[in-house]
Amino acid sequence: MKIKDIIAAREKPFASLEIVPPLKGVTKDELLDSIRPFMEFKPPYINVTCHRDEIEFRPGPGGTFTRHTVRRRLSETAVCASIQDAFDVEVVPHLICGGATAEQIGDTLSDFKFMGIENIMALRGDSLLGEKRFTPEPGGYRYASELVAAIRSFGRENGTEFCIGVGGYPEKHFEAPNMETDIANLKRKVEAGADFIITQMFFDNAHFYEFRDRCRFAGISVPIIPGLKPLSSARQLESIPDLFSLDIPQDLVREMQAHADDKAACYRIGLEWCSEQCADLLRNGVPAIHFYTMGRPDNTVEILKRFF
Ligand code: FAD
Repeated sequence: MKIKDIIAAREKPFASLEIVPPLKGVTKDELLDSIRPFMEFKPPYINVTCHRDEIEFRPGPGGTFTRHTVRRRLSETAVCASIQDAFDVEVVPHLICGGATAEQIGDTLSDFKFMGIENIMALRGDSLLGEKRFTPEPGGYRYASELVAAIRSFGRENGTEFCIGVGGYPEKHFEAPNMETDIANLKRKVEAGADFIITQMFFDNAHFYEFRDRCRFAGISVPIIPGLKPLSSARQLESIPDLFSLDIPQDLVREMQAHADDKAACYRIGLEWCSEQCADLLRNGVPAIHFYTMGRPDNTVEILKRFF
């Protein structure tokens, strides 16, 4: 079922989940066991992230270096196929522009069509490590809006219509000069054919409400689904802002730092903070909440128990 139809038919807000494909070597049973705890809450769909191959330079003879393409994780296609096979849930593979030509993206779309996948998240992807700005693959796409248009055109040519999600940034995408420009660029993705928006995680709901208002004012009318992640350790106070270019509110930072040596306390603090965000979002009319599980089912499961 298409996510836009799931949203339209909902009787109450629902939870969706995002998982990262495991590193190579993890077995199918291990993957499915890590997802099983979520299934009790009947999520209508599970997103599976997509990761660009990394480039490694390995030393060779005589001081030379050779370039190698390294893939550390299983592909989102393999992971989606396993989940589809095991559980009654829609899978939403992420598709990125980075590292792929238009032809390669077309091949992946053919696989998705073959698998009966109806929903795709279309993203640009990040720059390679050490690259200052994102560089598109020669013959590939520069912006997610181009990818959305390509998915729409693939659908027309192949008699299929994917429901397409795109990313939105309540605290602005770090490359955009200001929020107004970033929202104008988000609108381009919707005009190219996106059906819904899932936001980057945020830890202060005020950012989300302001973003939602600005999107509506700009004429973006598709559903906007907030993305949340419960923090689980004091270490994430550094890694999360660094990885996702966002702010963590001072009250949360202060509370976690005060218990930095107590793992259980930090886990609890992150869980309670995210629960309060969740309760507030549900009071404020969101259609769904998307949880970034990032390899940790336990805290998300606890929140699902409380609200869904
Ligand atoms: P775009 O929408 O293309 O925007 C990128 C930047 O370019 C923005 O600053 C935007 O304002 C600007 N821009 C857009 N269009 C134009 C234009 N026409 N002219 C000038 N500027 C423009 N990354 C992964 O690698 N794999 C994943 O699975 C993944 N999943 C994600 C899921 C969600 C919900 C979100 C929010 C992000 C995800 N990301 C993922 C991260 C994402 O790939 C990065 O944030 C990336 O830097 C931007 O992707 P985008 O799709 O938002 O890009």
